[in-house]
Amino acid sequence: MKPLIYDLDLDALSRTLQQWGQPAYRARQIWRGLYVNLWHRADQFSVLPQEVRQKLAQHFAFAHLTPEKSLESSDKKTTKVLFRLPNGEAIETVLMRYRQRRTLCISTQAGCAMGCVFCATGQMGFRANLSGGEIVEQVLYFARQLKPLGERLTNVVVMGMGEPFHNYEATLAAIDRLNHHEGFNMGARRFTISTVGLVPMIRRFAAERRQINLAISLHAADDETRAAMLPINKKYPLDVLLAACREYVEATHRRITFEWALIHEHNDTPEQAAKLAALLQGLNCHVNVIPLNPTQGYTGQPTTRRRALEFCRVLESHGIPCTIRARRGIDIQAGCGQLAVQA
Ligand code: SAH
Ligand code: SF4
Repeated sequence: MKPLIYDLDLDALSRTLQQWGQPAYRARQIWRGLYVNLWHRADQFSVLPQEVRQKLAQHFAFAHLTPEKSLESSDKKTTKVLFRLPNGEAIETVLMRYRQRRTLCISTQAGCAMGCVFCATGQMGFRANLSGGEIVEQVLYFARQLKPLGERLTNVVVMGMGEPFHNYEATLAAIDRLNHHEGFNMGARRFTISTVGLVPMIRRFAAERRQINLAISLHAADDETRAAMLPINKKYPLDVLLAACREYVEATHRRITFEWALIHEHNDTPEQAAKLAALLQGLNCHVNVIPLNPTQGYTGQPTTRRRALEFCRVLESHGIPCTIRARRGIDIQAGCGQLAVQA
């Protein structure tokens, strides 16, 4: 299989072109072709001599992802695409249109090893890691779809299939590629990585002091409840997790987000809200709650509107900002935690 061209950074591309005996500016021409013009076939590179176009086609793949299925929600605001990878695995990517925003929810793995009980991807188990280039390609694919409409992606959330910090290098390499100022040039602050709470990687991310937004999937405010929902809590309990979160906020001076899927009469009680408020005291943070999206392998049900409002009210009475998120795309199984590919 030919290497995917989006797996190369500008330096690696420059080295290749140098080996081909090409002048130094060629790599930048190709880079702009890929990430500014959004070209995805060697023959589109009209700025290059025929010989270089041929070499590109011989040596590199311009796609590893084959779109197999595309589904649109009934309100037309959410589109989900299923892509097949060269290894036969499949992933899903979701575009959400909300007012001026065009937010893409991308996957970093096929399946997920973390086994969170309420999550459809977790219920599948781990299948494969994506390469950085395959993560990048999801974004380029949708950018190409939007271009003829005069639209651009405004935000990328790493909240699709997989645990991004369980595929750390590829995820960060992808964001670096898309962030590059001579290429796709999407600002670091337009990206959000969501993690289940892999503490060593949160520490590493904090030390890198990036401007990328960080969200932590919390879902419960005591170890017993959280470990029953998110097995990773047995390895990294709440005190260790919250210490790493505080380190991140201190190192980056950025606000951290906590995510909470509200499950009826389980973690949507005023007691859980009060415990959560105590955990987060003094931390520069924000809580996003979303009613659970029911999945096949889990009996929990979504909270009610009234209980969600009460949960947020308790948090806010303790000075912790809270937002209730809408469940988008659930009619096409494109909502949070619903991504799963039937084998
Ligand atoms: N693995 C990462 C990112 C992917 S999941 C993580 O866990 O953070 C993206 C978000 O959807 C996480 O906050 C996750 O907890 C949440 N989620 C998973 N299943 C869900 C469900 N059934 N209903 C609502 N949210 C869910
Ligand atoms: Fe994996 Fe995130 Fe789902 Fe947990 S919630 S199983 S970490 S994708």
